[in-house]
Amino acid sequence: MSEQDIPLLDPQTIAAAFGVASDTAYGAVVPPLYLSTTYEFEGYGKPGLYDYGRAGNPTRDLLADAIATLEGGAGAVVTSSGMSALDLLVGGLRCNDLVLAPHDCYGGTMRLLKARAERGHCSVRFVDQSNDAAFAAALEEMPKLVLIETPSNPLMRVVDIAMLAAQARGAGAAVAVDNTFLSPAVQRPIRLGADYVIHSTTKYLNGHSDVIGGVVVAATLAEAERLRCWANVVGVGGAPFDSWATLRGLRTLFARMAFQQNNAMAVAHYLEAHPAVSRVYYPGLASHPGHAIASRQQQGFGAMLSFELAGGVEAVQRFSSAVRFFTLAESLGGVESLVAHPATMTHADMGEEARAVAGISDNLLRLSVGLEAERDLIAGLEAGLAACSN
Ligand SMILES: *Cc1c(COP(=O)(O)O)cnc(C)c1O
Repeated sequence: MSEQDIPLLDPQTIAAAFGVASDTAYGAVVPPLYLSTTYEFEGYGKPGLYDYGRAGNPTRDLLADAIATLEGGAGAVVTSSGMSALDLLVGGLRCNDLVLAPHDCYGGTMRLLKARAERGHCSVRFVDQSNDAAFAAALEEMPKLVLIETPSNPLMRVVDIAMLAAQARGAGAAVAVDNTFLSPAVQRPIRLGADYVIHSTTKYLNGHSDVIGGVVVAATLAEAERLRCWANVVGVGGAPFDSWATLRGLRTLFARMAFQQNNAMAVAHYLEAHPAVSRVYYPGLASHPGHAIASRQQQGFGAMLSFELAGGVEAVQRFSSAVRFFTLAESLGGVESLVAHPATMTHADMGEEARAVAGISDNLLRLSVGLEAERDLIAGLEAGLAACSN
């Protein structure tokens, strides 16, 4: 694809073909992997496009440009993890700058923001962003950065990005959206008014559960350049091999998402109708409180969902040992289906009290729905649910 074509292309084409057949050395169709840490100067006082791998690497930059284009941003920085992507943004703050984050944000995000605030690197406030009055009151404290996560983990609470971003901007804050749970195949926050998009590329963007990585996309070139410089200062750029593998994963993002979303919808309907299940949290269900907003701001409902078992903790234990095709493991977004028990796994560190406040009960299970056949996934769940009532 040529530079002029890119703005006109469907995002699906960008994911599949960005950088394909761009190799000028040998005409390789698949972009090559550049592992070299250092680059030859053209001559005295004349560096080439690249000089040192911490500052820039062609493989990493290609992935960054592909994701920035997909998200509709001006540029991006690929980092070593989702956490280092968030920290790249937080690292640019000053000691009195306030970060306004969701009260039910990703656990690692909460830990990082609290740790930075405790050390005086910024201050932080957690607020229920679906509570209009609470959000408006928090904006009066003039935050520098508002962090949004939608859908949230694990209850899939959905917030209106365009509305929150407009309010945050009105209060002079920059807006960052963690888009990890949906990917740009389903949601593009920059179009909705965000200044930055963050991803744990570990999840859907790579999609194969074999790379830890992250990215920050900036809406403007100036911000993209500032972040790129800062990533060089602190040295958090992603490894070239990881970038290469993530770009390979990205090729199939739209196809994976389409299938996985369909599977998730089927699983949600199946669970909703099952007597051993007391509640299902999936924005694709009309019963979900965020259904209307999700229908408006997303192109689909994603492949993450959670549900409560009617039988309590004992049922959770029985289900976990009897379920098939859903591996009991943390993380999400890969081609393989996973089941997690938030209270003892992903959200154990939160403590019982905070979990109760957030509505994360001990009989809640979270599913990352993969690419297996719908029929087998339902049979696998059936095996788990049948064990609950034995
Ligand atoms: C996994 C995850 C992160 C952290 O990413 P890592 O790649 O594990 O560092 C951040 N936000 C969300 C929503 C996540 O799911």
